[in-house]
Amino acid sequence: MISAERQTPRVALVTGGTRGIGAAVSRALRDAGRRVVATYTARRDEARAFESATGIRTMAFDAGDFAACEDALARIAAEDGPVTILVNNAGITRDSTIGKMTRAAWDAVIDTNLGAAFNLCRLTMPAMRTEGFGRIINMASINGQTGQFGQANYAASKAGLQGLTRALALEGARHNITVNTLAPGYIDTAMLDTVPPQILADIVGRIPVGRLGTADEVARCVTFLTAEESGFITGSTLSVNGGQHMA
Ligand code: NDP
Repeated sequence: MISAERQTPRVALVTGGTRGIGAAVSRALRDAGRRVVATYTARRDEARAFESATGIRTMAFDAGDFAACEDALARIAAEDGPVTILVNNAGITRDSTIGKMTRAAWDAVIDTNLGAAFNLCRLTMPAMRTEGFGRIINMASINGQTGQFGQANYAASKAGLQGLTRALALEGARHNITVNTLAPGYIDTAMLDTVPPQILADIVGRIPVGRLGTADEVARCVTFLTAEESGFITGSTLSVNGGQHMA
């Protein structure tokens, strides 16, 4: 929601914003009056279809690549204005038990899930400070809170996001920059395609609400935490998991 005295929409950057949870977040922020830029890396045709269906601008770059982020933010600043709402949503999995996990699988997950958040926080927070407003959401996971068999890289990256959130919340607090973590439980998106059906059925059986979550239910939390009026909520982790883990 834009405050009454503000005429120009704030610019929101959503990494991985054309699919799954990110697409729902992009649409929700657009509906809240934000000027949204949604990023992707692959599936150009899918991203173009998303852009024409939603009117949301899309941009291709690897959020794990610092120079690519620098270049993209310079283009966004020139064409749309400074990014003051950042949703670090991009995430990947490369699952295996530690005995089989390659160094490449470790690096890929840490670079994308945690490194990308560093890149974009590092590059956007100075402008947020100048603007006197910033809202950052880091998309973590229930598996970063509890650990998960076969996901040492993913769990470490998501737990790392919580530490990053808390440190940056302290740095941003005096400048009206809030930094929060969202920790979804199991949400019905393509990310779950790699989970074998029987294991997924077992997981659903352990969710008190009795079903998977939806991307829209996560997006609703992002809209709330990035609102102008949410300036007193910072450094927190909001769990969206149907009661599967209560911390
Ligand atoms: P999807 O696999 O559907 O989407 C992942 C998104 O990340 C894609 O849009 C992808 O874009 C983007 N992405 C991947 N690598 C990069 C990169 N290097 N740079 C920029 N973007 C990248 O997953 P979900 O929508 O399910 O997940 C979104 C977030 O929510 C992730 O961080 C995930 O870890 C987290 N999460 C998901 C849960 C679930 O149950 N679904 C549970 C808990 C957390 P592209 O395809 O174009 O590369």
